[in-house]
Amino acid sequence: MNEPALDFVIAALETIRDTSDRPPKASRSVLARFSRLGFARFGEPAASPAPTGRVVADKAALLAPIRERVRVCTKCPHLASSRTQTVFGVGNPDAELMFIGEAPGADEDRQGEPFVGRAGQLLTKIIKAMGFAREEVYIANVLKCRPDMPKGSFGNRPPTPEEMQTCLPYLGEQIDVIQPRVLVALGAVAVEGLLGTRGTMRELRGRWHSYKGIPLMITYHPAYLLRNQANSEKRKVWEDMLQALERLEKPISEKQRNYFL
Ligand code: URA
Repeated sequence: MNEPALDFVIAALETIRDTSDRPPKASRSVLARFSRLGFARFGEPAASPAPTGRVVADKAALLAPIRERVRVCTKCPHLASSRTQTVFGVGNPDAELMFIGEAPGADEDRQGEPFVGRAGQLLTKIIKAMGFAREEVYIANVLKCRPDMPKGSFGNRPPTPEEMQTCLPYLGEQIDVIQPRVLVALGAVAVEGLLGTRGTMRELRGRWHSYKGIPLMITYHPAYLLRNQANSEKRKVWEDMLQALERLEKPISEKQRNYFL
């Protein structure tokens, strides 16, 4: 089956699931065949590789239909009509490190890529200081659409709880496919999305949490660092990133240890 056909089938199955009392079900034998091919059901650990030694599912291929569903999503009609485009996520589907932000801003809405504005430039700087290229990690947001703003007004607004609840399953699916070794939540909205917790950043950051068994480090959003340029705050974020590097068992140079953003 070629890819557009696959997307079509998935979209049709989703429509049936969302609109019918009898959602589509896969038989035991079909599930067993998927399992032999190495495809996990979302949220469950992947089956061991097929006896032929074939490597498990291609993560880029698994992300493609999710991206397509996000691209055409109209679950929040007000956002679907105000956005330029959805912002799915960017980076390496096999990333060991994944960053989660809040929602696209104006720059991201225009370019279709997360974290490309001023906060994004700072995030890219952080990623590079950690010893990664931006393309090596994965970056996504809780919301895939830019929160709409009243006509003529500037700036951003945080996502509403309804918008978050509606959009979060997409992020869950992305994480289920990517299965990074470490997740980093940037700011309170990302924390709320992943953990359902509304704590203060002061008490949540700098220590390990867990999202579906994946180690989760919580740190300040780069936009906070742009507003608050105090060295003490920048150093806190950097220390959180050093913990992430340690968890990933990456070598940390003396220069990195002493680094200030
Ligand atoms: N802030 C976010 O949380 N996400 C982006 O993509 C850009 C800015």
